[in-house]
Amino acid sequence: MIKKMSISTKILIAMGIGLILGSLINVFFSEVAWVQSYLVNGLFYVVGAAFVNALKMLVVPLVTFSLICGVCGIGDVSVLGRIGVKAFGLYILTTAMAITLALLIAIIVAPGKGFERVANASTFTPTPAPPLTDVFINIVPSNPINAFAEGNMLQIIFFVILFAIAMLMCGEIGRELNQLAEKLNEVMMKVVTLVMDVAPIGVFFLMAKTFSEQGFGLIVPMIGYFSVVIVALLIHAFGTLSLLLAVFAKLNPLIFIKKMRSAHIFAFSTASSNATIPITLQAVEQRLGVNNATAAFTVPLGATVNMDGTAIMQGVATVFIANVYGIDLGPGEYATVVGMSILASIGTAGVPGVGLIMLAMVFNQVGLPVEGIGLILGVDRLLDMVRTAVNVTGDATVTCIVARGENEIDDAIFNDPEAGVITEVELPHKHIAENSG
Ligand code: ASP
Repeated sequence: MIKKMSISTKILIAMGIGLILGSLINVFFSEVAWVQSYLVNGLFYVVGAAFVNALKMLVVPLVTFSLICGVCGIGDVSVLGRIGVKAFGLYILTTAMAITLALLIAIIVAPGKGFERVANASTFTPTPAPPLTDVFINIVPSNPINAFAEGNMLQIIFFVILFAIAMLMCGEIGRELNQLAEKLNEVMMKVVTLVMDVAPIGVFFLMAKTFSEQGFGLIVPMIGYFSVVIVALLIHAFGTLSLLLAVFAKLNPLIFIKKMRSAHIFAFSTASSNATIPITLQAVEQRLGVNNATAAFTVPLGATVNMDGTAIMQGVATVFIANVYGIDLGPGEYATVVGMSILASIGTAGVPGVGLIMLAMVFNQVGLPVEGIGLILGVDRLLDMVRTAVNVTGDATVTCIVARGENEIDDAIFNDPEAGVITEVELPHKHIAENSG
């Protein structure tokens, strides 16, 4: 019997074809009006954007139900606090490691030295970054319905945890509600598989659209900056994070990377760790074997507060722009960059392009010209895709480490290559015979 192809293999193939088609359009048809209006900005855009909407549609209900189950599953507020502190601490630690690595590599390679200042450097108008005080105040929602409507992850997490703790305190009523939440969570996970089923199509169009606009030609003048970011991202993902995973979670990084494939593909094609939450949760719980009690809490939290890949881009960008403008940065400024990018990643959500807004915050703080960001704008979309995959890898790594500490990871599931693989969704069919006549 021929082995059925898993959905993530199908998505990978669709991604490759979309990438090639998009790149070809970029080279040969970028001036052809009908291709641009009917295909790139028509079909590709519509299907791709609708697919991203379908992913985002899952995030709020899935996080809500699974977080309620998670908190009730833990059942003990002090354990919850311990998991929270561990996860938060590890998220900060991995981000600090990421940005330090990026600064070191960038200082050694020195991209941007002797780079001609490009005339359009001032085309970037920064969106004002949120003041840090607001970042903390805004963790507490003044109106939870608003938080749910806007999909504000930190506020949702805050409210749901509080609500679930209250459920624990309510005895029987709380238990009944929790049973309901468990059922709803299971149904939501099924909705994830339904969306995954059409993902090859969605990812194909997303890729085709992105690459028909983002030709590889853009990379050539920026090759120094681009490659330093990519190298640092790869070292962090496959070196630092793999090492942490092997030492602290006692897990095989190769299996981990293989099983994270669908989350990587979704992160890469959507450039949004928030939109990827449902897939990361599916991968972490069903493929890697982490118990929902831990993952439901650490994955959405990570998507918001942990951005290793973004921090790496910021470190390299800081050194690059300083070199281009001939500004010398000292140890004090570098320390500020480390601190600022950690704080910035806590305060902003994982959505496409947010890294640049955070970068404006970092530049302001160390006195680099914010309009310099205009220089790296052209290649940012491609880097955004890769760094989002690294962001998601960081979330899953920390989740596994925390789960190991809490004895909440099932090694049998982790080591089973087939665990949690989605092959084909079987839709229910009514029996015509039963209903006719
Ligand atoms: N797109 C990234 C994410 O969603 C954030 C960024 O670096 O812009 O994780």
